[in-house]
Amino acid sequence: MQTRFTEEQLATPDIARADDILRKCVHCGFCTATCPTYLVTGDERDSPRGRIWLIRELLEGKAEDPEVAGHHLDRCLTCLSCMSTCPSGVDYMHLADIGRRHAAQTRKRPYFDRLIRKVLVEVLSRRMLAYIMLLLASFIRPFSGILPRRIAAMLKVAPASFPRLDRTGAKDNIFYTTKTPARARVAMLAGCAQRAIDPDINAATIRLLNRLGVDVVVRKGASCCGALAHHGGDETAAHDRMSETIRAWSNELRYRKLDAIVVNASGCGTTVKDYGDAFRHDSTLAEEAAKISSLALDITEFIDRIGLGPIDPTVGEGKTVTYHSACSMQHGQRIRSLPKELLGKAGFSVREPAESHICCGSAGIYNALQPEISQDLQKRKIANLDASGGDIVAAGNLGCINQMAGAKAPVVHTIELLDWATGGPKPRKLR
Ligand code: SF4
Ligand code: SF4
Repeated sequence: MQTRFTEEQLATPDIARADDILRKCVHCGFCTATCPTYLVTGDERDSPRGRIWLIRELLEGKAEDPEVAGHHLDRCLTCLSCMSTCPSGVDYMHLADIGRRHAAQTRKRPYFDRLIRKVLVEVLSRRMLAYIMLLLASFIRPFSGILPRRIAAMLKVAPASFPRLDRTGAKDNIFYTTKTPARARVAMLAGCAQRAIDPDINAATIRLLNRLGVDVVVRKGASCCGALAHHGGDETAAHDRMSETIRAWSNELRYRKLDAIVVNASGCGTTVKDYGDAFRHDSTLAEEAAKISSLALDITEFIDRIGLGPIDPTVGEGKTVTYHSACSMQHGQRIRSLPKELLGKAGFSVREPAESHICCGSAGIYNALQPEISQDLQKRKIANLDASGGDIVAAGNLGCINQMAGAKAPVVHTIELLDWATGGPKPRKLR
């Protein structure tokens, strides 16, 4: 794609990078076929190709209506399906970041929109606040019919039930393996909203790693990766959360070696793996951020590296798992077959639903901010999951697990099944 930036504009690092990315796009439109928002609305401006064109107009200062461009950028799920499809290697992820940063500086969102985004980011990225808000949501939910449409939509995406608050990461902790000597020492991202909604995921992760001879370090400061704030367009909050997490792990690395930093939510994993890029111009944290990213692994990548260990063949026998690959897993981190292979090794029969490359509509806080598109995609995903006929649905990202909760089969985290098959308890949702 041709660009028309001035020399002065190209002196800005963001514009120079955007120019490089834009010039790779040949406008072929292959990406439109796999873009979920384009499938729902049929509007070219809701396709990757259309958005790339809008971003160029915005950055060049030639957008006819920056509000319209901002609106279509807001409707992008950042699912990155377009990056998997694009034959030219267009780095849509970083281009969209630049476009959104620019849009945030040049347009002022309506007050209510800003308020909702602020509340969602501030509350959901803090474990205790998230828990209190979800408790309140469960009380208010029966009255959602008389509440404003956007509030009702937010209530709809809150989980219907959640057990107890996960205390993992409430303080610095090390979960030691009983095996001596330990085979490895890893840090685990404790997470923010996940600890308020599903404590079983961290518990299964730690149990499985300990059983495999791995010590697990959880640092209080490394809880929120910053992805929620980043997706909510609050770059200041995202930067603060990311910096805090990078510092907490860097302090740990100064004290003792870590073999890996494991992440059990693929949306967070995509963000942590990108810290090195996000902080590359930061004079104080660039080196540490790059180190953290180089150590970051999805939990399935780490389990594959050390081996699953002995399994109980009676657990998976006769059970079919429909594996849903989160967009952040398959498009963001390009991890496609590994979780399915591990589930197969654990004794389950594994299949994928139709349209497995299409987003479920969760996408961080997108389901609360763009309920119409999100609900369309949710219905489509659940219909495909139900048609697959699996006994259990497994996924590696809490947002998707929550979004797909209406499927006929119970939806659990992949790690809960791997833990179960290797000696852990049966997942709560299957009991
Ligand atoms: S597939 Fe790639 S090159 Fe083609 S329009 Fe989409 S982003 Fe551009
Ligand atoms: S990130 Fe997803 S929603 Fe956004 S343009 Fe690409 S394919 Fe479409």
